Amino acid sequence: MKHPLAIFHGNESESRALADVVAHYCTCASTRLAGQACPVHAMAAFDQRAVDGLVFVRRTVAPYVRAEWRVPAKA
Ligand SMILES: [Zn+2]
Repeated sequence: MKHPLAIFHGNESESRALADVVAHYCTCASTRLAGQACPVHAMAAFDQRAVDGLVFVRRTVAPYVRAEWRVPAKA
């Protein structure tokens, strides 16, 4: 069964950040011989819940990080 492609519901900068992270953790060079994408690319391409969750966490995590690490809020 072919999985439908995930739709990215974030903005342009979030899309670039996701692409940077996927590129950083990509292992396609070592899995290409098996004829499949690496787990990171497979997640970004097909796992709608994971992609939506990454956008949600990216948008909501700042207050928690500030509270945990006592980082002052940006003005
Ligand atoms: Zn990859």
